[in-house]
Amino acid sequence: MKRLEDATRSYYSLREKGIKVIKTEVGGILPEENKIIASKGSLAYNYLLISTGIRMADEEILQLSENPAYNAHTWELEGTIELRRRIENFKGGKVVVSVPSAPFKCPPGPYETACLLDEFFRKKGVTADISVVDSNDKPQPPPLAQKWLTVFEKKNIKYMPNNKVVEIDGANKQLVTDKGDKIGYDLVTLIPPNKASTMIKESGLGDPFADVDPTTFKSKKFGNIFATGDCAKVPYTKSAYTAMYQGKNAAHYAAMAMGYSVKEPAPIHNICYPYTSSAESMLIRADWEKDGKIAKTAADDPKTDYRDSRAAWESTLLKSLFGS
Ligand SMILES: Cc1cc2nc3c(=O)[nH]c(=O)nc-3n(C[C@H](O)[C@H](O)[C@H](O)COP(=O)(O)OP(=O)(O)OC[C@H]3O[C@@H](n4cnc5c(N)ncnc54)[C@H](O)[C@@H]3O)c2cc1C
Repeated sequence: MKRLEDATRSYYSLREKGIKVIKTEVGGILPEENKIIASKGSLAYNYLLISTGIRMADEEILQLSENPAYNAHTWELEGTIELRRRIENFKGGKVVVSVPSAPFKCPPGPYETACLLDEFFRKKGVTADISVVDSNDKPQPPPLAQKWLTVFEKKNIKYMPNNKVVEIDGANKQLVTDKGDKIGYDLVTLIPPNKASTMIKESGLGDPFADVDPTTFKSKKFGNIFATGDCAKVPYTKSAYTAMYQGKNAAHYAAMAMGYSVKEPAPIHNICYPYTSSAESMLIRADWEKDGKIAKTAADDPKTDYRDSRAAWESTLLKSLFGS
């Protein structure tokens, strides 16, 4: 198991490249004035690149905003630590993993969670009856759907598609779906709907994600604003891997807009090795054309080799982003 320090990096390494890094919370974007409003004051810009990631739309699940302790999930750091504590204290019973409607960040993530919980409880000798309650009609991403179903069958994980959770009733330990069905649990991890920061909507850049051109990442409304990664409405997987390529492509087009002649980066692709256990991972790869149309996909069954490839892939990605 990894420690938090192993997965944590600082943006301050960017300073070595001569980039000014300011730690501040941005509260608003004023596109007409070419200005952002931040907790440490406002900042004017000629070009703006937004990569604020995902916001958890807790308010779309009844009772959740008022009772955040009802839930713990791994899409945020504090939730990850809390979920670990709950898993370690779990004495057995019904476990529910609730999946939001696509698009959400790390599409295989909730299904990996279910598989790893299954392995953890089996090894510990804790009886866990695990269900995946999915808003979608099949496990994500779609090219892995059938492979996930095969894995779930082998592990005796119950899969419940087309079940959008709309309420968490923590007092009675049950989830309520859009069909009015009640699903009881002893341990729950509910991933709320994923949306971009509210300031993107408030500044007219798009809702629920920033509307951008999938080639240049330029806002469809404001010519000097770019948005990449999880906060952008693009056909690419919401993953760290595509976010990196999106950033490189956006930087290319931003540099061109500023009058620089720069080499065109590679088209965007995604590689991911979702865990089905701590010993095995699957493979999913997707390649897109420059205009965002899907060019090809490849998917493969769980293998130990892919688990090993994942470790190498992760360390290469982190090194290229943060230098270590
Ligand atoms: C459990 C889990 C597992 C994952 N596994 C993988 C994987 O194996 N492979 C993979 O490729 N991807 C994986 N991902 C997905 C990946 O983490 C995201 O897709 C990726 O981080 C998106 O990058 P981003 O730059 O768009 O957003 P983020 O990495 O979320 O960065 C956004 C940044 O903006 C900052 N920010 C937000 N709002 C403000 C504001 N108002 N003011 C100032 N700063 C702000 C945030 O603090 C954050 O630092 C996983 C995600 C999860 C949750």
